[in-house]
Amino acid sequence: MIPSEGAERSAEFSEGPADGAHDEFVALAFTAADLLVEIERTGRITFLAGPSLGLGGTTTDQLLGHSFPDLVAKVDRGTVENLLSRIEQGEAIKPVGVGLHRGGGSATVFGGCRLPNGRLILFLALSGKERPQGAPVQEIAAGLMPRGEFQKIAMDRLRESSAGVHRLTFIAIEGLAAFRQRIGVAGGRTLLAAVARQVVVNGEGVEAAGEIGEGRYGLLHTGPVDTGSLRGAVKALARALDPEGPDLRLSTATIDLDRGELSDGDAARAVLYAVDQFAGQGSGVPPLAGAGVGGDLSGDDLLGGFFAAAAIRVSRLRNTLQMGAFDVAFQPIVDLATRQVKHSEALARFPGTTSPIETISFAEDVGLIAEFDLAVCTRVIRHLAAAAPEHPPVAVNLSGRSLENPRFVAALTRLLAPHGDLAGQLLFELTESAIITQMNAVDDAIQGLRLKGYKFCLDDFGAGGNSFHYLRSFAVDFVKIDGYFGHAALNNQRDRSFLRYVSGFCRENGVITIAEMIETEEHAESFRALDIDFGQGYLFGEPRIELSRS
Ligand code: C2E
Ligand code: MG
Ligand code: MG
Repeated sequence: MIPSEGAERSAEFSEGPADGAHDEFVALAFTAADLLVEIERTGRITFLAGPSLGLGGTTTDQLLGHSFPDLVAKVDRGTVENLLSRIEQGEAIKPVGVGLHRGGGSATVFGGCRLPNGRLILFLALSGKERPQGAPVQEIAAGLMPRGEFQKIAMDRLRESSAGVHRLTFIAIEGLAAFRQRIGVAGGRTLLAAVARQVVVNGEGVEAAGEIGEGRYGLLHTGPVDTGSLRGAVKALARALDPEGPDLRLSTATIDLDRGELSDGDAARAVLYAVDQFAGQGSGVPPLAGAGVGGDLSGDDLLGGFFAAAAIRVSRLRNTLQMGAFDVAFQPIVDLATRQVKHSEALARFPGTTSPIETISFAEDVGLIAEFDLAVCTRVIRHLAAAAPEHPPVAVNLSGRSLENPRFVAALTRLLAPHGDLAGQLLFELTESAIITQMNAVDDAIQGLRLKGYKFCLDDFGAGGNSFHYLRSFAVDFVKIDGYFGHAALNNQRDRSFLRYVSGFCRENGVITIAEMIETEEHAESFRALDIDFGQGYLFGEPRIELSRS
């Protein structure tokens, strides 16, 4: 579909293309676009075919000779100029959404390329209707993905490509929320859409671009990202929208996804974690929190090393798992009335740390928790299978994340299959350290195990916001009241009656209640007075390492 030699125009592009080539052009353009525009290097329109009314209420002829960037909304002009110069340099630009200046707020999707004969052509798809309030240009083609989708694409690409090909750039715009408040909802949307486009157009070889948090963007790319031009463009956009507005501070960091010793899967986990941390969603401290530095930040100090740090942690955890380099402590749980030991809880212990909680949350964040929980189960099962029959039953903590994972459930089932006689000796605690999203899958897993005779405890009751939801949704045998919540309740009349209500509800429904972190006789007495059945805490026995690392 390249026009014939005869259709070639002078190098100056001072006139429209020779007649005869247009039909081919139009046919080409109409396959993907409403409108074909040919421009010269200055951006001046030299030829136009299609329903040009949408471009600004003028006829085709009236638009000839106009500057194309002038037809575009002010905030998008920088983006368009940048794209035009890239088209001129020979790059094919995939469709990007831009707002129109005179089209009553309508939008167009615009892409273009330089033909081998040197002509610069643009393809425009007009939205044909006014952009309704609240429907930003972004929806049309800004090409930004939500965080989850971005992570998925980034992880998939990383698995497919060879090490060192891909790079991940984090872009944080501090002050965006305050700025948006000043310019109102519609202005804010315009700014976000324009920023989004800038993020996409300033990177080469961009394979995925995502908005991964408020004012936080991620780019997965193979070529360089022009952060200088991005910074300049965002500032110009902000100035155009609100000349008096506060400065937007932009920080960026580019990370080479060098996998080092990580497997593809583990490198992908590190990306997942780094993105979550950057979005402020992970359990760690958001990396920009408290930066509070005025002016532009190069960002590398703040954001750099992010993936590297995540990669090192993933690799350490992987080693710990492979080497079995952790211990398991047992802590007794007693009947508060008789002080008789009813069972023990298995608590993981990692070298160099007193509490496993950080490692556990990290394992949850990077998707290694199922492997870890399975490793603890394997140890405890091996121990119980070899123990004397009078050994007290052992409760193993399982993260909701693990129970949501069908492969974990299948592996646990396989692990238990040869040990049917352990049903009375092994039980499980469902922790609330991660929010459960797959309620049905978790319930199926719990009930499947209970049917086989393994009892289940709902752990951390009162620690998170979902305790009641879980209590209503999952039929269980025990409920363990979170230690901090339980202690707070001892000093507060309302919480105390709430606890009494919970213990009443459980008793009525055949569920045994457990209080934890009981350190004194007074605690024990108070919980007993609230009709709590069992207790756990230093008063009855500290966690003691029973299963040492292999
Ligand atoms: P958890 O399941 O609520 O475990 C009880 C925690 O209370 C343990 O903390 C235990 O050492 C601590 N504790 C026991 N008695 C007392 C006391 O009298 N006073 C005080 N202040 N604390 C007491 P630990 O061992 O640091 O474990 C923290 C959490 O890590 C556990 O909370 C559990 O959610 C998680 N965890 C431990 N092992 C595993 C595991 O194998 N898998 C999973 N998924 N999570 C685990
Ligand atoms: Mg527990
Ligand atoms: Mg607890």
